[in-house]
Amino acid sequence: MQVPAQVEYEKAASVADTLTLLERYGPVARILAGGHSLIPMMKLRLVHPEVLIDINGLSDLEYITVSPDGSSVSIGALTRHAGLLASDLVGEHFQILSDAERVIADAVVREWGTIGGSLCQADPSEDLSAAFAALKGSMIITGSGGAREVSAREFHTGPYETVVGPAEMLTEIRLPVHSGGRGTGTGSAYVKVSRRAGDWAVGAAGAWVRMAGGQIEDAGIGLAALGATHFVAAEAEEFLAGRDMSEDVLARAGQIAAENCHPPADQRGPADYKKHLAAELTARALRAAVTRARGRTA
Ligand SMILES: Cc1cc2nc3c(=O)[nH]c(=O)nc-3n(C[C@H](O)[C@H](O)[C@H](O)COP(=O)(O)OP(=O)(O)OC[C@H]3O[C@@H](n4cnc5c(N)ncnc54)[C@H](O)[C@@H]3O)c2cc1C
Repeated sequence: MQVPAQVEYEKAASVADTLTLLERYGPVARILAGGHSLIPMMKLRLVHPEVLIDINGLSDLEYITVSPDGSSVSIGALTRHAGLLASDLVGEHFQILSDAERVIADAVVREWGTIGGSLCQADPSEDLSAAFAALKGSMIITGSGGAREVSAREFHTGPYETVVGPAEMLTEIRLPVHSGGRGTGTGSAYVKVSRRAGDWAVGAAGAWVRMAGGQIEDAGIGLAALGATHFVAAEAEEFLAGRDMSEDVLARAGQIAAENCHPPADQRGPADYKKHLAAELTARALRAAVTRARGRTA
């Protein structure tokens, strides 16, 4: 079915207006951001909203800024993929996001698709959810009673489900600018295997590390499409913290990530192949992140 069912259409003028409309219409309403996930799902009759609340006019939700003390970067929920990819600030602090954006869809999707829409769609193969989980970011969710901050690692409650309530919206993603003391350096990277250029992941891994000399002081690892709880390879992160960097350590971290994820067998591949990817891609992402961290040591 290539034609969506009839819906009411509302164009929101502000965040407050969006929340009023969400409250007025209740659960039959859906926010329309880039529409690259929502409209195809409506065409396929997988979702049946009765009202669409278009937030594309909320230009004040399209920003990437650094906090005055330099300790965090904020990304407005309506920022497009293309904006994230083009950002010097993101390129400087979060190469994992630049890596991920280069392999998300194509230029047309990246021009329209939003960061908030990607996260709220909560597709288990979604790349940025894994990247933000690796970076230990947080989400700002706004309702009529105010805003609340939720860890990126608690944002998704399952496939296509998040903690955002029916009368709430995601307004911002906040990322800590990890920096250590003298002699430490941080780096991050994202690697993905897909069947075609611009396709969803068969499997993907993102890693962030803080290095002190030859030691991995701290690490974050996110997995996409690989059945990791909350997109995180928590056991591998724990294993790495405080270890001296070596190829054996990276390989073991990859094995631990594979042992603790539960990828589904589907049209993109069998589960054992995806487990193999979890091990290999985790090690590759970590290796690239370590190399970058060493190049940035203070
Ligand atoms: C051909 C194609 C290939 C793609 N490949 C990839 C890929 O390789 N990797 C990848 O990660 N993604 C991929 N995508 C998805 C792409 O990143 C989309 O941009 C993304 O899924 C949805 O963003 P959107 O702004 O279009 O959201 P929409 O489709 O407008 O919305 C998606 C959902 O989020 C809700 N929503 C949107 N914004 C908010 C908000 N601020 N607060 C609360 N709820 C909100 C909507 O109500 C809806 O339920 C692909 C998409 C297409 C069409």
